[in-house]
Amino acid sequence: MDDLQKHIGAGLQIAGQPIGGEHFTLIAGPCTVESREQTLDAAHAVHSAGASMFRGGAYKPRTSPHAFRGLGHEGLRLLAEAKLRTGLPIVTECMDVRDLDGVLDVADVVQIGARNMQNYALLTEVGRSGRPVLLKRGLSSTLDELLSAADYITQEGNEAVILCERGIRTFETAYRFTLDLTAIPVLKERTHLPVIVDPSHAAGRRELVEPLSLAAAAVGADGIIVEVHPNPDEAICDGPQSLDAATFSDYVERVSAAAALTGKTLVTSTTRITEQAIAA
Ligand code: PEP
Ligand code: MN
Repeated sequence: MDDLQKHIGAGLQIAGQPIGGEHFTLIAGPCTVESREQTLDAAHAVHSAGASMFRGGAYKPRTSPHAFRGLGHEGLRLLAEAKLRTGLPIVTECMDVRDLDGVLDVADVVQIGARNMQNYALLTEVGRSGRPVLLKRGLSSTLDELLSAADYITQEGNEAVILCERGIRTFETAYRFTLDLTAIPVLKERTHLPVIVDPSHAAGRRELVEPLSLAAAAVGADGIIVEVHPNPDEAICDGPQSLDAATFSDYVERVSAAAALTGKTLVTSTTRITEQAIAA
């Protein structure tokens, strides 16, 4: 494990950014990498609004095999360009151990999606990679099961695991999933790992994303991963729940204020990229 990723007491460091403790991490970007223009527009928008990291999926878990499943390798290439142009660390999902090497070429944080939380072969391999992991809670998983899944990663010597509550399946059908906010303080009682919230996939619709984000920050989450798109109405995937990039900076301001309630400060990426680096 290199210096940037080593375990530091109450928190971790990821690509030079502290996470956990008194820090609040805001990971933002589109559900899916769709095109060069959409990816770079989203990356610039969330960067200038003060986000900590950029998210975007190149490999997408979809309920129907007929839905768009991501640009794959080309998507990873676009994420690499977004990183080069903004300096934002990249969070992207790996669904299959066969794709892991390619994902590791660009990901500062490897996302394990809700549907793969108990894919033990994948957990073991990302554990062995030593790269920070964002582990999402399964749709119907208990906190014990989530923590056992995290153990698969830490058992390989990789302590850089971020837990993510993203809504669970309950009897309620008025919204996509039920955001389990109680999970945040309870996970914090039971582990030193940072705990973040995904309000987008829980809500399923844009109007609910900000109230859930404010609640997550107020209840002590160490950060949020949120979907943002330059043109949500035309998004290929998860448009109805995506925030509009044009108004994202207002959202960031209000979420930062909510994070301050629990003594946390937003970590903003300050990396400056030179034109020379882009040309190289
Ligand atoms: C995602 O983050 O794009 C995603 C598919 O999330 P989840 O695995 O929580 O459904
Ligand atoms: Mn999505």
